Amino acid sequence: MKIAIIGIGSVGSAVATAVRNTGYVHEMVLFDRDAIRATAAAADLGHAATFGFDVKISAASNYKGIRGADIVIIAAGANQKPGETRTDLLNKNAAVLADIIPNVMANVDAKTVKIIVVTNPLDVMVMLTQKLTKLPSERVIGTGTMLDTARLRTILAHQFGVSSQSVNACVLGEHGDSSVVDWAGVTIGGLALDDFCKQVKIPLSVTTRKTISHRVHSAAYEIIRGRGATWDGIGAAVADLVRCIANDEHRILTVSCTTGIGPRKVAMSMPRIVGFNGAVISLTPKMTSDDGTALKNSAKVIRKNYDAINLKK
Ligand code: NAD
Repeated sequence: MKIAIIGIGSVGSAVATAVRNTGYVHEMVLFDRDAIRATAAAADLGHAATFGFDVKISAASNYKGIRGADIVIIAAGANQKPGETRTDLLNKNAAVLADIIPNVMANVDAKTVKIIVVTNPLDVMVMLTQKLTKLPSERVIGTGTMLDTARLRTILAHQFGVSSQSVNACVLGEHGDSSVVDWAGVTIGGLALDDFCKQVKIPLSVTTRKTISHRVHSAAYEIIRGRGATWDGIGAAVADLVRCIANDEHRILTVSCTTGIGPRKVAMSMPRIVGFNGAVISLTPKMTSDDGTALKNSAKVIRKNYDAINLKK
């Protein structure tokens, strides 16, 4: 499998490392408008490959280098600075995607390519990418709330002293401040959350649930305050998504794809079955009425931001 990564900053580099370590790719091409940076990253990663999976890694000096890519990962664009929200990046990164997408589409096979969008504000960028590529929505996949879901599972695992692998939980909606924890769907070791809490004698009050939801929302802000940007978590999330596609795993991941029509069209994260053909089936969980209302609100936030894109020619 050949992977192209567009944008080799903190995130693109972490993605490249994590994807290489999956063992599911044989070739990786790195592209950045800063060609020196891409070349240096390809050299560094190439040296690292000596110690692990033998992946052919190169930097492309122009978009022809991505020809033959099965998956294109878009990680280019401005990141959040301390105090900025993801939405603050809207028009800057819309312009970046408007530059990148036509070049990508001129050099890939539109019948088969899958595009993974990482650039923020994530869901709006998924909608824009889908519009510009005209690809079927199941093949334009945003990492969405995969990372938020991982954060939730980690917090719950710590709370109860169990492995995050035993926690089944989803964050849905926007990859942003309006995301929603689906509390009704949380299971631990196959037990519904309330039942699990009773059996382990650790109550989870409404206040604690609200605190946990808040910690999921604020995780990125805290990391950005501490180390300037986030990259390891998203690198691992993208690698997991690539593995799921490459290996046709049909795992259920909270990725973002565009659904709906006309003014109701929106991309947001729902549990979706992901395999070689992309995010093929979207599932609708039974949520509490409060969480369901919050999810509808999240969709409205994303749509409003999408409508606010102002692409200056
Ligand atoms: P960065 O500034 O370190 O790197 C961005 C890179 O994009 C730079 O190397 C830059 O040269 C390149 N670039 C910019 N415009 C380009 C263009 N038109 N063509 C090609 N390359 C271009 O930023 P970062 O920390 O790597 O973040 C990248 C994006 O990922 C940001 O939008 C950030 O918000 C997002 N992000 C998303 C998640 C997620 O969960 N989806 C998590 C972390 C970061």
